[in-house]
Amino acid sequence: MTIPAPALSALRSSLTSSLIITPQDEGYTDAIRRWSDTGIKQAGVVIKPSNETDIVTALKWSQEHNIDLAVKAGGHSVSGTSSSSGGLVIDLTRLNSVTVEPSTKTATVGGGTVWKDVDEALASHNLAAVGGTVNHTGVGGLTLGGGYGWLSGMYGLTIDNLLSARVILASGEIVTASKTDNADLFWALRGAGYNFGIVVSFTFQAYEQSTPVYAGIVAFTPDKVEEVISILNGLLLDKPDPRSGAITIFARPPGAPVPMVNVLIFYNGTEEEGRTRFADLLSLDPVANMISMIPYSQVNALQNPMATYGDRKSFKGIFFNPPLSPSFAKTVLGEFTEKVQSDPDLGASAILFEFYDMEKTNKVPRSATAFASRGTTQNGIITLRWSDASKDREHRAWARGVQERYKERLDAEEKAAGAGGVPQYINYAEPGDSVVDNIYGENFDRLKDMKRKYDPKNVFRKMHPISLE
Ligand SMILES: Cc1cc2nc3c(=O)[nH]c(=O)nc-3n(C[C@H](O)[C@H](O)[C@H](O)COP(=O)(O)OP(=O)(O)OC[C@H]3O[C@@H](n4cnc5c(N)ncnc54)[C@H](O)[C@@H]3O)c2cc1C
Repeated sequence: MTIPAPALSALRSSLTSSLIITPQDEGYTDAIRRWSDTGIKQAGVVIKPSNETDIVTALKWSQEHNIDLAVKAGGHSVSGTSSSSGGLVIDLTRLNSVTVEPSTKTATVGGGTVWKDVDEALASHNLAAVGGTVNHTGVGGLTLGGGYGWLSGMYGLTIDNLLSARVILASGEIVTASKTDNADLFWALRGAGYNFGIVVSFTFQAYEQSTPVYAGIVAFTPDKVEEVISILNGLLLDKPDPRSGAITIFARPPGAPVPMVNVLIFYNGTEEEGRTRFADLLSLDPVANMISMIPYSQVNALQNPMATYGDRKSFKGIFFNPPLSPSFAKTVLGEFTEKVQSDPDLGASAILFEFYDMEKTNKVPRSATAFASRGTTQNGIITLRWSDASKDREHRAWARGVQERYKERLDAEEKAAGAGGVPQYINYAEPGDSVVDNIYGENFDRLKDMKRKYDPKNVFRKMHPISLE
């Protein structure tokens, strides 16, 4: 797609607050940069507005001139759902204010903010919110798809703590969505939100968090994988505690010859409580222990060194019903080790399994929001990272193969239990993933009605589109 020159100049002259960046401009490479190089597309024009009026103008302009439209917040989509080949990108990063209201413990956050800014602004009031565990991810994408974090055990999903959103609809109308205003839109935003408009601000409920938390990474040699998984299964299923969580990360720390079994643990309590909670794990003779008492606002920075910008990435969700089979995890670690050893370019890859207490999340009925994957299932991610673009197909196919095997296992387990499963977590799925047949599950029909009402021309269709055909 090429944007005709008259159309582009019409856009330029009608915008009042935006930085406007075209391929000829200095800063273009930076403007189309994304967390993963696989998410980069050569946009025809990128605008960075600082007010709503420009967003409305650009949104209408893209429809009038039939220009492809993408909306970008944190830029973490690896498949490019916040990018456009030749079209318009509305980059929300200048809408990054965080306003905290201590009396109601709420925070109103611009649609282009990243979680670091939210965590830090709330911390200065001894508050915290349910946000992402890697603090450079965007509030926008993470919230609109649901949002799990370390505080989900205590407070549920990010969307369960969303009080209202200010939304620019496809028509250009600006509306508030909450339990009392446009409640049907509010329902749809919470789990399928990227399909209904551009959210310029979110208001969240936050919670008191005046004490530090017990958190950090503890690393084990690969031979400990089955014991580690068994202990985490036991903590989750036999001793559930909403203040606790863990993520296992199969990854090769700098200097290590092979991927290790790293566990990122979290306990929202005292050091003594944390040590007691994870005593069995800690007694497994770790090769490194970096756990300490830290402010909550630093917890979501712990994974940053393993999740840096750059290179090509595949981000494939895996999905399991605990207990996670220790022997299956061992097989996967073995295959992963073989894969990363086969190509030095894959050295910074990882496979993650989350162990979050889901009770609070599952207290919200599945039909109460558009988020379809509330259930007992836990999430994981295969994140391969490489630099050679000619290997894209090969590495993606490998990750897809592992992803499919998890899905097959889960389907077989559910069939044996006579249970119908829920779809995979939408934010860990890429459009087109073969394991995703109906990402909206039982909420799909209602979402189609909402689409007819709020975006009948399907203007917002990049991330798991809701087609009316
Ligand atoms: C390193 C990493 C760590 C992660 N950790 C977590 C985690 O702990 N918990 C979790 O739940 N998920 C996590 N995720 C998944 C994450 O929620 C999704 O990748 C999310 O889509 C990222 O949002 P973004 O704003 O950064 O990305 P973007 O690429 O900017 O946006 C993703 C999609 O959302 C749309 N969008 C974004 N903002 C808006 C807005 N304001 N209005 C309308 N549409 C919008 C975009 O158009 C695009 O389609 C993680 C992802 C990565 C890569």
